[in-house]
Amino acid sequence: MKKVTPPDKTKPAGKINKPPFNWAWVYVIILLYLFLSPLLSGKMAKETTWQQFSTKILSRKAVAKLEVVNKERVDVYIKSSFSKDTAFKEVFKPIFGNGLYYGPHYTFNIGSVETFEHHLDEAEQAFSPAKHIPVSYVTESNWLLNLLSWVVPFVLLFFLWNYLMRRAGGVDGPGGASIFNFGKSPAILMEKENSKVTFADVAGLEEAKVEVQEIVDFLKKPDSFTKLGAKIPKGVILVGPPGTGKTLLAKAVAGEAQVPFFSISGAAFVEMFVGVGASRVRDLFQQAKNKAPCIIFIDEIDAIGRSRGKGALLNGSNDERESTLNQLLTEMDGFGTNTGVIVLAATNRADMLDPALVRPGRFDRHIYLELPNLTERTAIFHVHAAGLTMADDIDLTMLAGQTPGFSGADIANICNEAALIAARRKADKIAMADFGEAVDRIVAGLEKKSKIISAGEKRTIATHEAGHAIVSWLLRTVDPLVKVSIIPRGKSLGASWYLPEEKQLRSKTAFRERLCATLGGRAAEEVMFNEVSSGALDDLEKATKEAYSMVVYYGFDKRLGNISYYDSTGQRDLSLQKPFSEATGDLIDSEVRKLLAMAYRDATVILEENRALLEELAALLLKKEIVDQKDLEEILGKRTVGFKYFDLSDHEIYN
Ligand code: ADP
Repeated sequence: MKKVTPPDKTKPAGKINKPPFNWAWVYVIILLYLFLSPLLSGKMAKETTWQQFSTKILSRKAVAKLEVVNKERVDVYIKSSFSKDTAFKEVFKPIFGNGLYYGPHYTFNIGSVETFEHHLDEAEQAFSPAKHIPVSYVTESNWLLNLLSWVVPFVLLFFLWNYLMRRAGGVDGPGGASIFNFGKSPAILMEKENSKVTFADVAGLEEAKVEVQEIVDFLKKPDSFTKLGAKIPKGVILVGPPGTGKTLLAKAVAGEAQVPFFSISGAAFVEMFVGVGASRVRDLFQQAKNKAPCIIFIDEIDAIGRSRGKGALLNGSNDERESTLNQLLTEMDGFGTNTGVIVLAATNRADMLDPALVRPGRFDRHIYLELPNLTERTAIFHVHAAGLTMADDIDLTMLAGQTPGFSGADIANICNEAALIAARRKADKIAMADFGEAVDRIVAGLEKKSKIISAGEKRTIATHEAGHAIVSWLLRTVDPLVKVSIIPRGKSLGASWYLPEEKQLRSKTAFRERLCATLGGRAAEEVMFNEVSSGALDDLEKATKEAYSMVVYYGFDKRLGNISYYDSTGQRDLSLQKPFSEATGDLIDSEVRKLLAMAYRDATVILEENRALLEELAALLLKKEIVDQKDLEEILGKRTVGFKYFDLSDHEIYN
């Protein structure tokens, strides 16, 4: 299910606000340098040869001086009085405005200094000694070229390394963004001025709020605790399914206490290089200590805090994760109870955590957040509907009633979807129907009215859905049905909506009846057409899993007895070995098959006995496409006192 978080008013400040250093400038400077360096090093002289030099230049007595450079090249400077001479026009080209270029004007290579001197002597024999051309010898170390040939490979290597690091370090947050802060923690800091989330934004979760209130009090007035010698927990773990408001609660604690809030995901510590995670943990705690009192929030702490040694069978031991965890433990031991840094962590698998992490002195306090109940859902609806423009007839309590099992994040999502749906139909206000549509969409996916379905298929789908509806209607413990539709949505071709009651316990009969209702669709196809279709895939998968859980987890099977192979630690998820023998495995398989067969036979019996109702409902579905509770009550009768339920235990196949 998609999780939509409404735009966060509290934009995290701190690191994230710094404009990132623009590397493009470095590239531009290097390119400019490479491009300009030949110009700067004065290589504007025209190439020539000794022959041309001696015949065209030397003979005209135009040479001011000669410079033998590095015993391999001669630079020729022409007298400036020749600057107007057309023969030298080319080499006296003006540079930089009107200034003349004062040489060297020509250059030529020589085999050796001796030969050059010899040639020059010969050529100058005609000149009087006073007119001999001054020759100087210079050694020019081309430091620029030398430097570049050293530096360029390093620069290239540096950029390559930096690029790789940036790619590797880009988990999230600015911390991974460059080689220089690779080992820095990528936590996002929210300053206290920006912590605008308060307990008022967290609906429900009353018990959890009471528990965290103590932390708020401590952060606000540590003295009142410390003077009595009380120690405040250093770490609190928030445990609960996704979307139940763990992050929200942690933010609210920071907001209430008006302290800075560091937030990081457990996965962001772990990098492919060993030691990085540990250094990030160290850095995070260092930063936090500087900002104390403050809160560190580590989301999905199981990414680092998973019990050491678990999963070693499949992925080998994970050194990096372990060293990160060890560092976290050391840091938590290292800072005193009263430094004012409190670590809040969130997970949905507390049982997977390393025992060392949850022992007293570290994360010794666990706060469990559950999926919200009816009252809590109503409150959450109120929080999220506060910013919406809604029609007057919106009944949030009723919506809360229609959304059992939904998390706070789902409800936030519904409110947002409803607003989007209303906007799409260009309405001024969000109507109740928009909310209904949003709920349906989140449960079953988007309606696909354009999907082409043949008349024959439609009849099968209608019969299938009518089958589910009738079997579940006639069985006492199955949740009340509110709507049946044969409009394709998402991947499914038809759907039934139930209103689950909030119960903590379910009896064995309830399991059996639900199994029976799940298989009602396929049974209806067989009863009506003597043929089954592939449309029951989803049902079969659900039924098989449920039947397995009855036998293997809940100990509902008489032959297997009161035994459960459930593993709350999650350790066995990764193990290849089954916790039972081959013989028990066979027994489990046969018992599961028997359960499913019985449920299917029950469903068939119910539908055969009520064939007329099945036909009527299927026909109505074909006609209307959506059948609601009122229609169902008209055809099947109201499920109130005196309603004649079908009792499975009366039935011979159970005995
Ligand atoms: P978790 O961290 O448990 O996965 P979040 O705290 O990120 O869940 O919750 C996601 C969003 O769901 C929140 O931003 C908020 O909009 C909404 N939400 C969840 N629980 C509540 C609640 N109790 N009250 C109000 N909103 C909630």
